[in-house]
Amino acid sequence: MAERRRIAVVPGDGIGKEVIAEGRALLVELDRAMSLGLELVDKDWGADRYLETGRGMPEDALDDLRDNYDAVYFGALGDDRIPDMAHGREILLGMRFGLDLWANVRPVKVLDPALCPLKDKGPDDVDMVIFRENTEDLYVAVGGTFKEGTPDEVAVDQSVNSRKGVERIVRHAFDYAQKTGRKKVTMSDKSNAVRYGGGLWQRVFQEVQKDFPDIAADHLFVDVAAMEMVRAPERFDVVVCNNLFGDILSDLGAALIGSLGLAASGNIHPGRIGLFEPVHGSAPDIAGQGVANPMAAFLTAAMMLEFLEVQPAADAIRQAVQGAIEQRQVTPDLGGQGTTQSVSAHVREACLAIVAG
Ligand code: ATP
Repeated sequence: MAERRRIAVVPGDGIGKEVIAEGRALLVELDRAMSLGLELVDKDWGADRYLETGRGMPEDALDDLRDNYDAVYFGALGDDRIPDMAHGREILLGMRFGLDLWANVRPVKVLDPALCPLKDKGPDDVDMVIFRENTEDLYVAVGGTFKEGTPDEVAVDQSVNSRKGVERIVRHAFDYAQKTGRKKVTMSDKSNAVRYGGGLWQRVFQEVQKDFPDIAADHLFVDVAAMEMVRAPERFDVVVCNNLFGDILSDLGAALIGSLGLAASGNIHPGRIGLFEPVHGSAPDIAGQGVANPMAAFLTAAMMLEFLEVQPAADAIRQAVQGAIEQRQVTPDLGGQGTTQSVSAHVREACLAIVAG
């Protein structure tokens, strides 16, 4: 009997509902074929619920997730009827901070060379994983304004970096590199100008790298890192940085893949719970048309299965997605004529064939 793995499935809004339905169907099939022990529990958290009840999710949702779940498979939030995204703050930020999901993980791998915007660069050149610290730095809302609304107005945001927070993300990046056979971890900061936080990152990085003698440790100031990701992406293998720089570099990374429809991400508290979501949003402009690209949702499912330590299932999904792209079984955003359903059916069948050997 396989170990039980309990997953909350939160499609959310817009195309989140369409692509997560397909990802869910794939997970069900894989579970049947491989006895993964997955238990999928559907959650209706999103704009509709918020508009009906005034809350996007039940009050005890975070406690329930913390106590009873291993992962969250998440779609997207965003709805024209809630322009200030109040439900997004409640649900997504609630989970990020409430579950202390301190590692944001974004694989950056070119799957379709035709989409890579860089000249003469392809899958061998653009293949890295970015680890962004997800709970500290400038995002903690420590600060304030002085003389607000006057010509003398001053605004201050403090960047908070704790030794614990920095060490756990740096160590996690090295651990990941070691486990997955990657060779190098690049830490990126701005310690030449931002003295105190940068100094802490430098000291911690130098300490932690000693525990991983087989992994090369590299450092780039973040302005240079941004330049190098475009000029020479093959320099990067695993990247680790603070919240703000990670936010920027990971979006740069998504651009290198060439399509939002192929970018997956995880928000993880290692050893406890992980929330996995496609990088794209709810895409109201194409919602309901059956043309949303489901690949990011599939690759997101693969990341989640890797986190749940069922690597063969994750590998099968990635191989099936790669095969579908090579056979041009893709949606219009990738230049194909497929629908969400037809592309998904193709990936599902391919995946099951791979698993069946
Ligand atoms: P949100 O506010 O929820 O982030 P958005 O539309 O502003 O929504 P995205 O959802 O990320 O931002 O979409 C940006 C653009 O990319 C849109 O034109 C959208 O149609 C397109 N897009 C995003 N995801 C996909 C997808 N999976 N398949 C096809 N096109 C997509």
